[in-house]
Amino acid sequence: MTYIIAEPCIDIKDRSCVDVCPVDCIHEYERMLIIDPEECIDCGACEPECPVEAIFPEDALPDKWNAFVEINYAFPDADKINPLVNAYAEEHDVKNEPIS
Ligand code: SF4
Ligand code: SF4
Repeated sequence: MTYIIAEPCIDIKDRSCVDVCPVDCIHEYERMLIIDPEECIDCGACEPECPVEAIFPEDALPDKWNAFVEINYAFPDADKINPLVNAYAEEHDVKNEPIS
């Protein structure tokens, strides 16, 4: 299994999760962060750190965010991830407010 980052991270990217990941498997892309599904050890340390509750164990990801399974498993291919995130954000009219 792996953990998955979903819609609430788009354009937020505060990187709180990166600071606590013991294996440095959370990586930054244009509009959100992505977890390396091969390196993630399912420790769960990142989940409570996210201020917008964007991180889930794969088997507990809300159905409405299923698209993010494909997006996270596209790691590490930025040429796939960035267009998939842009297409998702446009289709779902994502307007996440910046956090202070
Ligand atoms: S579950 Fe653990 S290993 Fe996986 S991304 Fe989160 S902090 Fe890193
Ligand atoms: S803590 Fe949440 S919002 Fe911040 S970068 Fe990580 S997943 Fe994205």
